[in-house]
Amino acid sequence: MGIQAVVILGSTGSIGRQTLSVIQNNPDNFSIFALVAKSSVDILLQQCCDYNPRYAYLSDSVSAALLRSRLKAAGSKTEVLSSNADLLALCAAAEVDIVVAGIVGAAGLLPTFTAAKAGKRILLANKESLVMTGEILMNTVQQNGAQILPVDSEHNAIFQSMPAGFVPGHDLPASVSSVVLTASGGPFLNSPLSEFPSITPEQAVAHPKWSMGRKISVDSATMMNKVLEVIEAHYLFSVPVSGIEVLIHPQSVVHSMVRYHDGSVISQMGMPDMKIPIAHCLAWPTRIKSMAQPLNLFTSSPLTFQTLCCQRYPCFTLINSVVAAGQSAMIVLNAANEIAVAAFLEKRISYDNIFRLIDSVLQNIAVSTVNNIDDVLAIDARARALSVQNLKDITIV
Ligand code: NAD
Ligand code: MG
Repeated sequence: MGIQAVVILGSTGSIGRQTLSVIQNNPDNFSIFALVAKSSVDILLQQCCDYNPRYAYLSDSVSAALLRSRLKAAGSKTEVLSSNADLLALCAAAEVDIVVAGIVGAAGLLPTFTAAKAGKRILLANKESLVMTGEILMNTVQQNGAQILPVDSEHNAIFQSMPAGFVPGHDLPASVSSVVLTASGGPFLNSPLSEFPSITPEQAVAHPKWSMGRKISVDSATMMNKVLEVIEAHYLFSVPVSGIEVLIHPQSVVHSMVRYHDGSVISQMGMPDMKIPIAHCLAWPTRIKSMAQPLNLFTSSPLTFQTLCCQRYPCFTLINSVVAAGQSAMIVLNAANEIAVAAFLEKRISYDNIFRLIDSVLQNIAVSTVNNIDDVLAIDARARALSVQNLKDITIV
């Protein structure tokens, strides 16, 4: 493996920082071409000093100007960019081998799509972009000789448990009968249902097993994360949704499984540490060190599995109707969820109203055909507008 040039989208976030940590421990294998974030000047400044990227990008232009002057004062040669066109050019630059898609939400869609068109190896953490585009993104990857490797721990585990030679985007191997996604159950797995209306953002983002950004932490609490992940698995592995089982595994050691027709079940296990799937995708098909703690099966025991209770996780009940309705409903689901989670984190709606808002938006937008990215963006915009409007009718906390 020669030195791979990497763009990290979302470098200041949870996935971005853990990617930099893996790269720091494998300095002979990777170089940083660009670091991309929204507005975190202090963190990005430090990352530029530590990793010396050719480019740094902040989407907020005021923050970008501040970063530019502070880098100059520090004697750095890193060039600071801020226009949308610059961001897409970074993802498509000829020098770049790997694009880590670690932006949260729909903001990651166009950069990820651009990397696919440019034939890059995409390390996909930003599941929202795949949920929104499905076959459009997967076809773009195939047509342009790109690769999409799953960083999401469950999908990475499935990828690792597939027959040798399997690559995401290809047909499900004939020897495979189904896949099993595990879910930790989040922070409210054992909380009394009567407490749900008064759940606070601080409680919801305190995940028992994983340290993650705020949005995905709330998604894990509501189980919307698993809805997005079922759709993600459907597209990555060409597996029908009826062939995807979901079960709760509170210890988060078995990261997911593949069932074979001969009765074998192959799983990937490890500490709940995103550096493991990140390292796997960075180096695939070889292996590098991630510096994750070794798994201790004695202290992790017992490993338990249980069924998912839909009363506790009403968001999960949306999966079948959304999948049956197709791509446009998936876009609407994602948009309404992003608006609902942001409103909950800003304490504008209560926890149980996250589900109510998403459900109301899904029921009031007609299904439409999705042929290209422009269709995706138009449906996303309509769904966001209706979500904001419906927010007004939802009880304020
Ligand atoms: P985070 O909130 O910690 O970080 C988000 C990053 O995106 C930040 O660097 C932020 O600056 C950047 N960003 C946001 N909007 C942007 C914009 N408009 N332009 C440029 N940059 C922007 O989130 P995270 O937990 O790292 O999650 C990132 C993605 O990875 C999400 O899609 C999440 O679902 C997925 N994921 C995360 C984990 C995890 O352990 N954190 C696990 C699996 C999947
Ligand atoms: Mg996951």
